[in-house]
Amino acid sequence: MPNLSRRTLLAATTASIATHALPAFAAAPYSFRHGAFEVTVVSDGHLVLPTSFLAPAAPPAEREAVLRAAGETGEQYNSPTNVTLIRTTEELILVDMGSGDRFMPSAGRLWDNLKAAGIDKSKITKVIFTHGHPDHLWGAVDELDDLVTPDATFFVAGNEWNFWTGDNATRGLPPERAGFVTGARRNYAAIKNKVKMVKPGDDVVAGLRLIDTPVHTQGHVSLELAGAGGLIVGGDVLTHPLISFQHPDWRPTADHVPEQAAATRAKLLDRLATDRAKLIGFHLPYPGVGIVERKDLAYRLVPMV
Ligand SMILES: [Zn+2]
Repeated sequence: MPNLSRRTLLAATTASIATHALPAFAAAPYSFRHGAFEVTVVSDGHLVLPTSFLAPAAPPAEREAVLRAAGETGEQYNSPTNVTLIRTTEELILVDMGSGDRFMPSAGRLWDNLKAAGIDKSKITKVIFTHGHPDHLWGAVDELDDLVTPDATFFVAGNEWNFWTGDNATRGLPPERAGFVTGARRNYAAIKNKVKMVKPGDDVVAGLRLIDTPVHTQGHVSLELAGAGGLIVGGDVLTHPLISFQHPDWRPTADHVPEQAAATRAKLLDRLATDRAKLIGFHLPYPGVGIVERKDLAYRLVPMV
């Protein structure tokens, strides 16, 4: 690690403990009403990721200052994982399914947290996937590769399905992430008889529309809920509470096509700030609900909780 003396590492670790204890497992679901929908955010736990994934090519001094402000100066940081549940009069719709039990020990808490909140997973009628990364898709199956919600219909963007099941998947990813492809294919195989291919612009139910937000992954989609100024369930377009807003042009390692992903981020931020629509960010601090304001030449996240 460049620029990381033992002294700064020690200081960073101490600061981290003092300011950055995440309520990852015990967080109670957070619910609010949005137009015709009742929206609940449920934690799947968190990911533990290398801090080097956060905009490795950004100017070092600026990057260090932002990471310090975020309390993320260690070699790893915790990234929350917030799953959205949308209730209508007739449907119970889950947006992404968390990591399941084969990705990271700190994640895969969704089903326990739903149960603790008195929500019966067997009542879920529809599941929408923003994209096919492990922390969003791998919760679809249990340890025996059986579907966790066998009665649900699964909605997957056709572009995303084609990417992970096609030949470009392994070519599009660094070799250390080949397991992502295996996992995506395992979970897609489990849902294939219950899947409905969709595309941006499609309505899953009245007032819930898919919007095109590539290319964190090739077919990444977000959701737009009508009513009350709008609500966007953003998936992984905006993944960090400071970097994604102050420096939307910085490039996280997780974006498959970094330049276009940055353009998507800029477009969504402009829209959120202009419309003052609510945002739910999958990896923003739990529950990840906020609005976006313009600040200086960029933006800032104003959490609603
Ligand atoms: Zn993610």
